[in-house]
Amino acid sequence: MWTISNRIKLNFKWHGAALITAVLVFIFFHFLIDSQNQKYKAEEMLKSSIYANLLWAKVDRELNSLLFISNGLASYITVYQDELKPDKINLVLKDLWQRSKHVRNLGVAVGYRLTYVYPEANNKKIIGVDFRDIPQQWLKVKQAVDTKQGVLDGPIELIQGGQGIVYRYPIFINGEYWGIISTVIDTPDFLKSAFKNTPNQHEFAIRTADTKNVFFGDQNLFSDKDTFKQTSLVPNGKWEWAIRNHTSDFTKNILVYQIASIFISLMSGFLAYYLLKDRYRLSEDAMLDSLTKLPNRRLLKDRMELAFHTAKRYQKMIAIMAIDIDYFKKINDSYGHDFGDEVLRAVGLMIKSNLRETDTVSRVGGDEFIVVLKEVHSIQNIISIAAKLKSEFSQPMLILEKNIYVHISIGISFYRPDKPITLKQLTKEADMALYQSKANGRNTYTIFEAN
Ligand code: GH3
Ligand code: MG
Repeated sequence: MWTISNRIKLNFKWHGAALITAVLVFIFFHFLIDSQNQKYKAEEMLKSSIYANLLWAKVDRELNSLLFISNGLASYITVYQDELKPDKINLVLKDLWQRSKHVRNLGVAVGYRLTYVYPEANNKKIIGVDFRDIPQQWLKVKQAVDTKQGVLDGPIELIQGGQGIVYRYPIFINGEYWGIISTVIDTPDFLKSAFKNTPNQHEFAIRTADTKNVFFGDQNLFSDKDTFKQTSLVPNGKWEWAIRNHTSDFTKNILVYQIASIFISLMSGFLAYYLLKDRYRLSEDAMLDSLTKLPNRRLLKDRMELAFHTAKRYQKMIAIMAIDIDYFKKINDSYGHDFGDEVLRAVGLMIKSNLRETDTVSRVGGDEFIVVLKEVHSIQNIISIAAKLKSEFSQPMLILEKNIYVHISIGISFYRPDKPITLKQLTKEADMALYQSKANGRNTYTIFEAN
């Protein structure tokens, strides 16, 4: 019972140690992989943000060159306000339009009514239109007038057809509102030109911050949580950018690393388990009986096999003694289990002290001991040892300040070169002889004799 529960406890120890090892290794790898992943992700984000800034610089430059057109036109109108003639204005518009790139058309509204438009072809529809009558455009026109600043609107659906980004620039003369300039930008052409010489490193998309209208790239980039997002200011508004992060090989293969780390953790757990078990197997604890510190059944088996094979090989005799305490239960019952333990220790010592160093005395469980006697020269020799043991036990033993009588029964078997038997048979015969001693009334020894 004791040894079994002890073994279970040990098993728990090994399992626990293996589990802790596996968990610790897993935690270590988890943090290692996680920190590497964070590092790579941060690097990727940085690269994307650098790319975003590059893109924005390109757009900003292209946009500024367009916005200057409005400034020029506004200056002209302010200077010639008293002598403005339609054909002159149209000439100025034509000149500006020809100098610019990506401008679909230029328009000048006097008050809120579009009066001059260049080129006229394809844009006739809008001449004479009052912005206050176009709700979808009026808001931004009003914003430009109210803030006295240029406002970038769109891309919006144009009345004359198609889409475009429109820059509204209000003109104030002597503090009085005079009219508004509209520069309609051909958006695809404009963006194409802006990004013309940009290395195509990352996929990206652009949208307006207020209407969330995606006018460049794939709109799904905005809902993807792994893309890099950035906002940039345009005249009186904002644009939002979403840039696809490149994933490094490490980030891409993260699942493989995670699975590998679980595998390594499990392996470490198994390794810890087997190493501990192996260490235990080779340790004294595994070889000795914990109560009496005598060899246990496992060590006995080794010793017995060695003695047996040596005897067989060199034609020697050996003997096995099976010893069991008589009425040990009574001792336990009368004096308690702890006292019984002391008796077991004392009996072990007593047997050992009556034998040679080369002999093996082992406790194989309960109140049973097995002795392997090597270099046996005659049966008589063993009989005298058994008789001596019996007589030693006929004296009372002093145990925990109590004098008690402890008797033993002995069963003896021999291996003789002239009558060879197996080791199994040899042990069985010792057991049978012991049984005979018990049957004969105990406190005696019996030598097994084949019928
Ligand atoms: P028998 O003469 O037939 O041998 O009678 P017994 O009372 O000695 O009976 P048996 O050998 O069958 O029983 C051995 C008892 O030893 C049973 C158990 O209660 C007790 N025992 C087994 N292991 C230990 C132990 O580690 N310590 C103590 N104190 N008692 C144990
Ligand atoms: Mg007994």
